[in-house]
Amino acid sequence: MARTAEAPARMFHCSFCAKPQTQVAKMVSGPGVLICNECVKLCDSIMAQYPDQLEPASINVPEQLSTDQLLAILKGYDTAGERVDQAMRDITDILRERDVSWAAIGDTLGVSRQAAWKRFG
Ligand SMILES: [Zn+2]
Repeated sequence: MARTAEAPARMFHCSFCAKPQTQVAKMVSGPGVLICNECVKLCDSIMAQYPDQLEPASINVPEQLSTDQLLAILKGYDTAGERVDQAMRDITDILRERDVSWAAIGDTLGVSRQAAWKRFG
């Protein structure tokens, strides 16, 4: 538990445990996902416990979560696509600043140069 001051303008939830940002000390975002400091700590312990395991370990077992937790996760997933799209735009902007061609970006995404430009240009 950490922040309880003012309610944020937009509430984010950890993609793994569904806790809102107001109930954790820190939240880190990646493309389409958020993870709280508590889940990072849990992941760290799993990594330490199974250092040679090649298959991904799961900390999210939906059947064990409450209905409220599942609803919070569902809400978080609803905006995941927007966050992934924004991350792709950010990367494309950096690539374009480096003079990477639309053809190379399109080729990477498996689309034409024109399609890449239309989506991110
Ligand atoms: Zn979490």
